[in-house]
Amino acid sequence: MPDLVDPKKTIEVIQNNKFVFQKRFGQNFLIDAHVLNKIIDAAEIGPDDTVLEIGPGIGTMTQALAENAKRVVAIEIDENLIPILNENLEQYDNVEIINRDVMKTDIASLGVNKVVANLPYYITTPIIMGLLESRIALDSITVMVQKEVADRMKAKAGTKDYGALSLAVQYYAEPYIAANVPQNCFMPRPNVGSAVIRLKLHEKTPVNVKNEKQMFRIIRAAFNQRRKTLQNCLNHAEDLNIDKEDIARALREMNIDENIRGEALSLEQFADLSNRI
Ligand code: SAM
Repeated sequence: MPDLVDPKKTIEVIQNNKFVFQKRFGQNFLIDAHVLNKIIDAAEIGPDDTVLEIGPGIGTMTQALAENAKRVVAIEIDENLIPILNENLEQYDNVEIINRDVMKTDIASLGVNKVVANLPYYITTPIIMGLLESRIALDSITVMVQKEVADRMKAKAGTKDYGALSLAVQYYAEPYIAANVPQNCFMPRPNVGSAVIRLKLHEKTPVNVKNEKQMFRIIRAAFNQRRKTLQNCLNHAEDLNIDKEDIARALREMNIDENIRGEALSLEQFADLSNRI
């Protein structure tokens, strides 16, 4: 039975192994069974799933994944956690523990169809964007992230949280916030609130874009200086080699006011703009 999520058990494992938390690895271990169940439910883990867990810690979530999935591949950077993981998970023959930096791992070669993690917050965005942009055939990514990052991923046009991250995530996936998680659900307590977000990957991208790289350069430029108009941002973007007249013409064709700001444009409109330029 999964038992590591019990705070008393977590303390016992940490003390018995004289484990010292490493701040640089973003170590905040989950100690709330209710939240753990929410993650497993949101990820819809079943007997056909091969799951990648990024940063298993002492194996709290790994246990729950192993009970429900066909196979679990857990990648942990901290070598001090490897003997602890081997001991805590020895009864599961469907778990593979790898001592490696996930950022230096060829995830496509692991043969996983879902990713589940309580992510180390210092590399949340590079991990998620790396997974999405690599186009690995994943069904979903279900992760604990800072609440503020989850809100940005899910934000719609015209809201304060909307930006380049919202558009990038929503181009590849449908986000759903499964739970908001307070600080006391972790050991040690993080400084900020967290949320569980599930990204269900689109089978087909929701918009047709002729040149993806150009669209994302336009999006980044549009949000680079939030208080400037879209046209102004694009005219002054260094890595966007586009004629000012072409930008003005495309906006006119789309019936977009020349004073509009980037935050008002939807993904469909950014795709349309990019295709016209
Ligand atoms: N999954 C555990 C839990 O929920 O209790 C631990 C989550 S903790 C927030 C993040 C974990 O990711 C830590 O175990 C940390 O050592 C590990 N980690 C940090 N950076 C990593 C990296 N680059 N590659 C793999 N694991 C990493």
